[in-house]
Amino acid sequence: MSFKLADAAPLSVNVKDIPLKDPLTGQVFLSQVAGQKYKNADLTVFLVKDYVSRDKKGMSEAFPDEMVSAVADDPPNVVLKGEDKFEVTFAHEVCHLLQDIQQPSEAATVTGHHSREGILMSTGKESSRVDEALMRRINVP
Ligand SMILES: [Zn+2]
Repeated sequence: MSFKLADAAPLSVNVKDIPLKDPLTGQVFLSQVAGQKYKNADLTVFLVKDYVSRDKKGMSEAFPDEMVSAVADDPPNVVLKGEDKFEVTFAHEVCHLLQDIQQPSEAATVTGHHSREGILMSTGKESSRVDEALMRRINVP
């Protein structure tokens, strides 16, 4: 797996019916922003200021049907010391998309989060480290 940057231009969006001081919710993002993804990319990641996920629990979110992720500009600090919280959050959301592609029968019901502290996708502190169990979920042999 590799990533090739296709574009990284700022995108101006007009979001209707929410005050500027309010965070952008996943519902509004999905209905008014996600469709502006980069059409030639396999995956578009939007870096979003003040984002709140559809379930109100997260500050970043993956939308597998659209192959789009929203990553908060300042995600919560749930990473191990020394790790870059933006990079880990970015990798976390990409992992969600890869799991949904590799495990389509589980996509609607399994988050892929686990309790293996220090490993990407952990419900505790996580890092950019990937263990064998996670690798088998995102890259099925
Ligand atoms: Zn997650």
